[in-house]
Amino acid sequence: MTKKKQDFKKEKEIFLEHIQKSGLRRTAQRDLIMEIFLRTEEHLTSEDLYWLVQKDDSTVGHTTVYRTLKLLTEAGLAREVRFGDNKTYYEHHYNHDHHDHMICTECGKVIEFFSQVIESMQDEMADKLGFHATHHSLRMWGVCSSCQKKKTETHSTAPSGAQPRVRVRSVSSG
Ligand SMILES: [Zn+2]
Ligand SMILES: [Zn+2]
Ligand SMILES: [Zn+2]
Repeated sequence: MTKKKQDFKKEKEIFLEHIQKSGLRRTAQRDLIMEIFLRTEEHLTSEDLYWLVQKDDSTVGHTTVYRTLKLLTEAGLAREVRFGDNKTYYEHHYNHDHHDHMICTECGKVIEFFSQVIESMQDEMADKLGFHATHHSLRMWGVCSSCQKKKTETHSTAPSGAQPRVRVRSVSSG
């Protein structure tokens, strides 16, 4: 959730260790994919990451990106998240505090939030029902503030009943 300029030294160590444990070799392509993933503070599908990697190295294939994301997930650096559009998104997991998501069904913007009150209430509810919760993911769908503004400005000339769509915000290469 936090954005800091860093060299991801620890993350790279963890990844290398995991690759070696899995009996794989370290490759320049895997290193590049990991590097770009770590630099991008977004919720990315494997397709999104593929296009980012393409800017640096057009010889990297879809499958390599997909497999590297799986490795990053196994290593605990990435986490899979779903926003209800049948796609798997990946976000940073290592050194990132727990948070939940609000998803705009108009523009696809994903807003991260954390509320200790909500967290405690979830724990209480689980206790009450004798449920041992290991993890959770709270997602809310709706319309973000800028889309609400746009709607009132245009007096909703758009056809009603349009399919809600969810996509990741455009990512900068920096
Ligand atoms: Zn939560
Ligand atoms: Zn929106
Ligand atoms: Zn997130």
